Amino acid sequence: MKRVKIVGAGLAGSEAAWQLARLGIPVELIDIKPGKMTPAHKKPYPAELVCSNSFKSDDPQTASGLLKREMRQLDSIILAAADQTRVPAGSALAVDRDAFARTVGVMLEATKLIKYTEREICSLEVEPDTVLLLATGPLTTEKLMSAMSKEWGELLHFFDAAAPIVSFDSLDSSNYFTASRYGKGSADYLNCPLDQKTYLKFRKALIEADKVAIREFDRKVFQHCQPIEILAEKGEDTMRFGPLKPVGLTDPRTGKQPYAVLQLRREQTTGEMYNLVGCQTRMTFTAQREVFGIIPALRQAEYLRYGVMHRNHYVKGPEVLDTGNQTKTRHNLFLAGQITGVEGYMESAASGLITGRLIALIAAGYPADRIGEIVLPSTTMMGALSAYVLSTDSKDFQPMNANFGIIQYDSELITARRKQERRAQLVSASDLHLASWRERYQKLCNEYGIRYENSGL
Ligand SMILES: Cc1cc2nc3c(=O)[nH]c(=O)nc-3n(C[C@H](O)[C@H](O)[C@H](O)COP(=O)(O)OP(=O)(O)OC[C@H]3O[C@@H](n4cnc5c(N)ncnc54)[C@H](O)[C@@H]3O)c2cc1C
Repeated sequence: MKRVKIVGAGLAGSEAAWQLARLGIPVELIDIKPGKMTPAHKKPYPAELVCSNSFKSDDPQTASGLLKREMRQLDSIILAAADQTRVPAGSALAVDRDAFARTVGVMLEATKLIKYTEREICSLEVEPDTVLLLATGPLTTEKLMSAMSKEWGELLHFFDAAAPIVSFDSLDSSNYFTASRYGKGSADYLNCPLDQKTYLKFRKALIEADKVAIREFDRKVFQHCQPIEILAEKGEDTMRFGPLKPVGLTDPRTGKQPYAVLQLRREQTTGEMYNLVGCQTRMTFTAQREVFGIIPALRQAEYLRYGVMHRNHYVKGPEVLDTGNQTKTRHNLFLAGQITGVEGYMESAASGLITGRLIALIAAGYPADRIGEIVLPSTTMMGALSAYVLSTDSKDFQPMNANFGIIQYDSELITARRKQERRAQLVSASDLHLASWRERYQKLCNEYGIRYENSGL
């Protein structure tokens, strides 16, 4: 059996370590935390959520819901911990972030096969008897990044921003109402209504506010995570059709739909911390207090965490990676998570999950050059994401979220024309293809002496 080392105990690294340990394979899990932290990591736990506490929709007929459905079928630790620490958030899967990360830590430790080492890894060197997985994320440390650039050329990057979190006690309860959009599910959000005058004042303040200067920022912001001030600049109504949309919400004080609504989502089961949904920002901390203070419910808000902006790095997937996230330059070196060019918490975890499963076979003796034979099909969301990072033109290579544009349609199974029915068929096709992949995977485990039966997988 080869030794397995994983660098990065984030979402991808934790998931990969879990998968290996569940198959009875010992793992050394290495992270610079808690002694040193990246600019966004603050807590000692593994699988830390650095920004939002939401994993997006849990409805399997949405792309991110389908991804979760597949990951649950493959015994994801991230989803098991998320299900245990869920907070109410309508149809989204949101968690108490500290309880979530603590649960991941406890589950990893309970396997008794994962040895945690606190260390910064700065090179790509791998001993011949070892398989190394780098899952160091978008904030990979400088030294390791320069080793990567030396091996594979300059890394690509984009900017990502986090939204502020405020304390519940500091909110003005006479200026918000609890409801979920269209009354779907329980009334989990605090909705701060804005009349037209306040909305326009808020927009003007966002545009004029002091921002933290970042060179090249405007060209390289991730399109699904635009700071609120950029949306404000785009047009008078852009925010009202985006994060501040009022549709499906009725203010009980007026019986009417407000002009705009800023929603606050609960951060913890106890409901003491609330996230300003869609308000990721690069405004200075003083400006955040002033500008968000224009919203009546937030006039006296206490900021438990301010919004921040960071540069996210990723490799040129198509040039650097082969199937199964194996690097082209070294057969025993793998990458997983956001560094490969997937984007999002769940996407990063999914990348760790499948890479962990493939590494398990290689550690047990499966030939590293035959990985292509056991990758997940692109008719599953997980398989489609893995294929995406390899296939796109590397010059314009952009990170990708789960979406129905990348999945391969099995023309025998997907025949309906209407969107709703097609989505249902896509879910069934994913179930079917995943089941047949699991069967093949299980056979290979048996062939290479991996104890699949007792793994609980
Ligand atoms: C500011 C910011 C906000 C984001 N907001 C969201 C969001 O709201 N929703 C969303 O879905 N996604 C968000 N993302 C994107 C992405 O989903 C997360 O970054 C996610 O955590 C990526 O998972 P990962 O496992 O690839 O990396 P991470 O979870 O970042 O884990 C990487 C780990 O590697 C460690 N590490 C780094 N370098 C080294 C080294 N040289 N040696 C040892 N250890 C090292 C780090 O300490 C860390 O623990 C955000 C990213 C950033 C940077």
